Amino acid sequence: MPTYIVLLGPPGVGKGTQAKVLAEQTGLAHISSGELFRENTKKNTELGKLAKSYMDRGELVPDDVTIAMIRDRFTRSDCQKGAILDGFPRTPVQADALAELLKEFGGQVDVVPLITADDEVLIERLSGRWTCRANGHVFHARFNPPQKDGVCDLDGSELYQRDDDKAETVKRRIQVYQDQTAPLIAYYRSKGSLVEINGAQPIDRVTADLLAAIRHHHD
Ligand code: ADP
Ligand code: ADP
Repeated sequence: MPTYIVLLGPPGVGKGTQAKVLAEQTGLAHISSGELFRENTKKNTELGKLAKSYMDRGELVPDDVTIAMIRDRFTRSDCQKGAILDGFPRTPVQADALAELLKEFGGQVDVVPLITADDEVLIERLSGRWTCRANGHVFHARFNPPQKDGVCDLDGSELYQRDDDKAETVKRRIQVYQDQTAPLIAYYRSKGSLVEINGAQPIDRVTADLLAAIRHHHD
């Protein structure tokens, strides 16, 4: 049976950073709704233009278009063993849609690591985040600096600061997380799949805790 892991946690806590490492170590696909929207924005598709109008304000993109995009992503061949979901679901409607979708693929949400850190930590991380144009690799000016300023270590592409990482938008995104996404904590806890992870540790310590939680859930 395929394995599905949902990474839950506020903006800037390290979901994308961890999802990339976990995908490599487990062989599961990495599905990032934010990256899919940014790819669409870069290509200037209709979906990209619509998504950008919400993302720039720190608001969520409407559920129907988000769910349709994720449904399409699941049909790619790299998802056969399962997937690590990073940034989806973000609302109760999306969580219900995911449960229905996984029934079609013969699976279910297996484990939901909830990664947490205080707001000050999130703000510090987002204000120093540098993202790569080509593949969305992330660095941090202080905590995970690239070898060469402004250049991605992994693919040599340019690093940029996301428009929505500016201070006012970050505040709104954290509020939106509290209002619209935090209800998923109780939802997944009631299903017995939630595992709490301390996201305020160094990157490799968070990875170790995540790998232990995933293995434990499978034994
Ligand atoms: P999210 O996907 O949850 O928004 P990211 O993975 O993009 O978070 O991480 C946000 C920023 O914080 C990035 O600049 C990243 O390099 C940095 N970061 C991620 N995890 C840690 C950590 N454990 N300690 C310090 N910095 C981190
Ligand atoms: P973060 O670093 O905040 O975790 P993401 O890259 O996951 O950022 O998301 C960036 C933006 O993309 C969000 O603020 C939101 O506008 C949009 N977005 C991403 N995932 C979803 C989703 N599941 N539902 C609605 N909007 C989303």
